[in-house]
Amino acid sequence: MVDSTVQRCGLVALVGRPNVGKSTLLNHLVGQKVSITSRKPQTTRQRILGIKTSGAAQMVFVDTPGFHQGIDKAINRAMNRTISSVVGDVDLILFLTDRLHLLPEDEVLLQNCFRSRCPVFLVINKTDALGDKQALLPFIDDISKRYDFAEVVPVSALRKHNTAQLEQSIIKRLPENPWLFDEDQLTDRNARYLAAEFVREKITRQMGDEVPYEVAVEIEEFREEAGIYHISAVILVEKESQKRMLIGEKGSRMKLIGMEARRDMERMFDCQVMLKLWVKVKSGWSDDERALRSLGYDD
Ligand code: GDP
Ligand code: MG
Repeated sequence: MVDSTVQRCGLVALVGRPNVGKSTLLNHLVGQKVSITSRKPQTTRQRILGIKTSGAAQMVFVDTPGFHQGIDKAINRAMNRTISSVVGDVDLILFLTDRLHLLPEDEVLLQNCFRSRCPVFLVINKTDALGDKQALLPFIDDISKRYDFAEVVPVSALRKHNTAQLEQSIIKRLPENPWLFDEDQLTDRNARYLAAEFVREKITRQMGDEVPYEVAVEIEEFREEAGIYHISAVILVEKESQKRMLIGEKGSRMKLIGMEARRDMERMFDCQVMLKLWVKVKSGWSDDERALRSLGYDD
């Protein structure tokens, strides 16, 4: 039994061919439609897909970009090292398949999985659609001889069969670590904060040393309409000269900042984003309590 009083937290990678049911499983495990997620601070290598806190355990589900590239691209050692360092950062890998034989792509992905030293689960999804359930056992037998899976878990993500057991197995493998995220991480307030962070990040990237670090971003509007996020943000600067610099020639700089920030938001929120940005000179904003509050600095 897992000690239910000790905080556990780990990164769980979901790996598998397109269409095997990764998103379906994720949405079910996380318990809500995953549209708003946060990013683990200081990590750019993984994209966080969803967070589930259950009892004392926190599962951070991640996508591992680069992982899905074929091994043919990874012939040289440098590339292989990159892959193993990416998968090496996770605590557990869920390898999904939806049929009772492995395709060549599966084998490639599996070899990548086993480059890491973390446990790998074989999750056989879509068991509801299996014609012959008897075929499961020989398949499991055979594949277990070839790969050293920590566990093999047949599930139906769609019908929610055996997914609770899968969750329990995941929790058991999580290292004893303090949580990375607050329990209420998936909130709207958080999404606003993240949106502001994206804009701020792009400003820093665009401006380099020119950037006045007292630049602040205030989200004025954040609403969803017909699956599209409408986000308006004001960039607050201290001086007129900073405003001119930020806007750039005919607004070129602001356009670039907006484009890049929007792209990141769409990736993170997993939906279309209409982003409006403008720059306002507001000297002494840092003394303004309302501004501070809306910027998320109140706690
Ligand atoms: P992903 O590309 O790996 O993220 O796969 P998706 O989660 O988008 O699922 C691909 C398709 O498989 C969708 O049409 C799902 O409804 C379907 N699917 C996912 N899980 C199951 C399952 O357990 N049983 C069945 N019958 N279909 C499933
Ligand atoms: Mg998907």
